[in-house]
Amino acid sequence: MRSINIGVLALQGAFIEHERMLTDLGAVCTEIRQPSDLTGLDGIILPGGESTVQGQLLHKSRLFMPLRKLISDGLPTLGTCAGLILMAQEINNSTTDSTAQNKTAPVAHLGTLPVTVRRNAYGRQLSSFVTEQPVAGVRNYPMIFIRAPYIERADENVEILAKVDGNIVAVKYRNQIGLSFHPELSENTKIHEWFLTIA
Ligand code: GLN
Repeated sequence: MRSINIGVLALQGAFIEHERMLTDLGAVCTEIRQPSDLTGLDGIILPGGESTVQGQLLHKSRLFMPLRKLISDGLPTLGTCAGLILMAQEINNSTTDSTAQNKTAPVAHLGTLPVTVRRNAYGRQLSSFVTEQPVAGVRNYPMIFIRAPYIERADENVEILAKVDGNIVAVKYRNQIGLSFHPELSENTKIHEWFLTIA
């Protein structure tokens, strides 16, 4: 039986950490850098990093249209942190985000996930933190947040998987899972295991 082949977007950010975890779990990883890397995939991971840069590179690499089509057509996709921002239909730039050119106008990237995310939602003081919370059937999952977004609004058909301090930090919508935090940086492989069962 052939191994599950997960494409990990490898334009920028924390893609190596996802690959390490997936390989440890017995999956094969394909680094997505150009449209020809999109063939034969069972699932896609959009890693954390800097969503503005990733969004620009998606266009430069000509990945934008074919990647968006694969996700819309139902290929299982996991977006973490910046990856979640890439998927969101609407983006609010936090007022503490000095790099944002326009602090209010939301500019969507792939826009496949019907949610509004707030970028850098935890501000400067609390930009990075860890908390153990239940998510998707895992009792105490160590969630690692790094300059993370949270989800301000989700369409009613979006399943909410976890909240932290009342804010949505994990969702599932059809084939798409969006997380504010970084499962690839924790020791706990449960979320990747779960994703592989979907892929
Ligand atoms: N703050 C980043 C952004 O807005 C996301 C941070 C991350 O992926 N850890 O793109």
